[in-house]
Amino acid sequence: MTFAVHGLPVARGIAIGRAVLVVSSRIDVAHYFIKPEEIETEIDRVRTARNAVADELTKLQASVAQMGPNDTPHELSALLEVHQMLLQDEVLTGGVKHWITERLYNAEWALTTQLEIIARQFDEMEDEYLRERKADLEQVVERLLHRMKGTAAVLAPSPPRRKRATSQDDDNDNDDPTAGDGIDVPLVLIAHDLSPADMLQFKKSVFAGFVTDVGGRTSHTAIVARSMDIPAVVGARTASQLVRQDDWVIIDGDAGVVIVDPSPIILAEYGFKQRQGDLERGRLARLRHKPAVTLDGQRVELLANIEMPEDTVGAVKAGAVGVGLFRSEFLFMGRESTTRQTRLPDEEEQYQAYKRAVEGMQGMPVTIRTIDVGADKPLDGKSANKQEHLNPALGLRAIRWSLADPAMFLTQLRAILRAAAHGEIHLLIPMLAHASEIRQTLSLIDFARTELDNRGAVYGQVKLGAMIEIPAAALTLRIFLKHFDFLSIGTNDLIQYTLAIDRADESVAHLYDPAHPAVLRLVADTIAECRRQGKGVAVCGEMAGDVAFTRLLLGLGLRSFSMHPSRILAVKQEVLRADTGKLEAWAKSVLESDDPAAAMAG
Ligand code: PEP
Ligand code: MG
Repeated sequence: MTFAVHGLPVARGIAIGRAVLVVSSRIDVAHYFIKPEEIETEIDRVRTARNAVADELTKLQASVAQMGPNDTPHELSALLEVHQMLLQDEVLTGGVKHWITERLYNAEWALTTQLEIIARQFDEMEDEYLRERKADLEQVVERLLHRMKGTAAVLAPSPPRRKRATSQDDDNDNDDPTAGDGIDVPLVLIAHDLSPADMLQFKKSVFAGFVTDVGGRTSHTAIVARSMDIPAVVGARTASQLVRQDDWVIIDGDAGVVIVDPSPIILAEYGFKQRQGDLERGRLARLRHKPAVTLDGQRVELLANIEMPEDTVGAVKAGAVGVGLFRSEFLFMGRESTTRQTRLPDEEEQYQAYKRAVEGMQGMPVTIRTIDVGADKPLDGKSANKQEHLNPALGLRAIRWSLADPAMFLTQLRAILRAAAHGEIHLLIPMLAHASEIRQTLSLIDFARTELDNRGAVYGQVKLGAMIEIPAAALTLRIFLKHFDFLSIGTNDLIQYTLAIDRADESVAHLYDPAHPAVLRLVADTIAECRRQGKGVAVCGEMAGDVAFTRLLLGLGLRSFSMHPSRILAVKQEVLRADTGKLEAWAKSVLESDDPAAAMAG
């Protein structure tokens, strides 16, 4: 039966494909695709874990038997018996094997996927006793997952073979609606939430689109989705509960709608929309080599936001004239940890990564932002941060985190300074608000230089920039401009902190308003003050890549926009059509309006 789920549109376009469900489990589970030649090893990992858990349960049963009936309740041995049965259950073991063999899921992902399928069947049972066995199954699977810890092969995302998905659900009546040769079936990802680390795992995969239950328009999951340039919907609330593995799904990334089990008529309509989108992309591709100059001859700098050095390939391809924001924290996230302490990249590893980014940009400047972890970007990929800190968005995040751990910060600074010997690097500091933070940061940068001098290491000069993403910073520009060569406006956080709206919380997403007069005022003043003092200014938040704001920002005097490479051509099209002379007065009237969104549209 066809039904629709509504969420927030975050990355444009239409995707049609089979659902791949990533379910959350109480244990942190890695999700990645294995290579076909690794199928046997992966099945073996499950088998070994199952044998170990079976032994564990047998030993427990034996000790319970020894205790005698007065020491232990009869239910305990019955329960252990149930766990043994569930462990050996063919639906569980056969299902896991299916996901590993047919979909190339790693063992842990296959287990949690199959757990979810069986759990839903338990939920539907009439008999209360049987319904409650779901908790036992969860415990058994958790035991298995614990046993499998540390036995995974190197966590490397390899793209799955795009093969015809064979549904194992007997009740799954979805015939392949795109039936034809049936060899390549697009896959779409459905999850309750995806950590930024998970997103990076999936970045190199071939998903045609994705949907999450949680998240706001500028949550980091949404941002990475945008960088993948695939249709995506976040904040779809119950999508991961309503969609089943292998369901056919349409993701409308323009409208924020997810259509499940579509009828042939709906499929035909969306197939048409998809082709229209492809044609539009083809048209935009012709602008790739055209310089971004307005009708009145103003040259506009269109820069790329990247997460990994390898993203420079896409940036150059899209016609970026530099990197305006390298979110360096992605080098630090989702790394395997041997102890509770996550292993951080050392100076050499970071230096190599920054050098790769510089080389990738072939002589164009690269702006590297120092680490910005915390809030919705926890280092270890878990959302535990949310529970550990009362209000992570207001907590130990970004530069605050760096200043709290000077050794880690100095390591990063040294690596960046060394990479600057290979090309033009701009060093960008996130989340500054206080003059004392500026002073500490600058003295640590000096200290990093001294350390390199003492070592006789080669390093280069960098331009220094600060992000303006806290209203306090936007209101004290004078202090910032005394110390920095340029400013970069992080509108994602500036909106969050100006309006007191958690950017990752879908329940207040309707109030997250980039066109709020207060936000526009802070943006406009920052641009104007930098221009007045002859300092560089860019916008690197999502607003820079949103064509609805291009004319306004041009009218306010902005000439440097940094965005995901996938947005560059669409923004360039707007730039080519704009006349900044005419836009200035109009931008002023928008700024003075009580309802700027309406004024912009009018
Ligand atoms: C911003 O806040 O606008 C920004 C660019 O930084 P991030 O999205 O990484 O917080
Ligand atoms: Mg920010």
